[in-house]
Amino acid sequence: MSSDHQVTGRLEPDISVSDAIRLMSSRYGPFDRKPRLEPAHEVVLTILSQHTSDANSSRAFRRLMDRFGTLEAVASAEVAQIEEAIIPGGLAKIKAPRIRQVLNLVLEHNGTLDLSFLREMPLDEAKAWLRKLPGIGPKSAGIILCFSLGMPAMAIDTHIYRVCRRLGLIGPKVTADKAHDIMEASVIPEQVFKFHVSFISHGRQVCKAQRPRCAECVVAEGCPSRGYFMAHEDASGPEAPALADRRANTPVQLPHSL
Ligand code: SF4
Repeated sequence: MSSDHQVTGRLEPDISVSDAIRLMSSRYGPFDRKPRLEPAHEVVLTILSQHTSDANSSRAFRRLMDRFGTLEAVASAEVAQIEEAIIPGGLAKIKAPRIRQVLNLVLEHNGTLDLSFLREMPLDEAKAWLRKLPGIGPKSAGIILCFSLGMPAMAIDTHIYRVCRRLGLIGPKVTADKAHDIMEASVIPEQVFKFHVSFISHGRQVCKAQRPRCAECVVAEGCPSRGYFMAHEDASGPEAPALADRRANTPVQLPHSL
């Protein structure tokens, strides 16, 4: 049974995105904006992070770098060697050839694994460039551009998607991919990073998938889903109606952070 609450129609938000960012930031911030990794490293980490936890993907990434030292060495390694190194990240049989393929495609098109030139491109072009790489969807491209290159690219992960739906910032039929465009148009560029980290913190800590803690939520007063969840909370937690939109429970990539 789904635990989400976006069932029969669009919920109207009673809070603006900027107010939600402000309230969540005051609760979960301040947020550190240091670049985490070089962009090519971030590309590899985003592939490793697909369908696994942050802890597993980080471990797999560290093992990969300990084993090969550089991504250039990974690009020319045997797939089986890469596979062995990234086993803790899961789906190694799929991720190993993909990592090797992506690195070699970047080398082929760019001559180097230095992707800092993306910073000089208009945001849409930089996103399109990255999305031509296999396995790099809107979320991965957003993470690479936002976290590694400091660009105002939206990256909607499963937590952010859930919070946006419950707050009525996106409609019930909006897919996670489409949510990128909608939220990018709703959040001013200077606030995109703060939006990402505040909403993800809120989704992880309070607006959880199974049991949202509405009683301690900083945006509860503006949340059109609060009444539903508060009314259905009991010893076993809130339950959503049987016809709940199953898209909310479709497995999506987990966020990653080092
Ligand atoms: S009130 Fe509840 S459902 Fe709404 S954002 Fe807060 S925790 Fe999530």
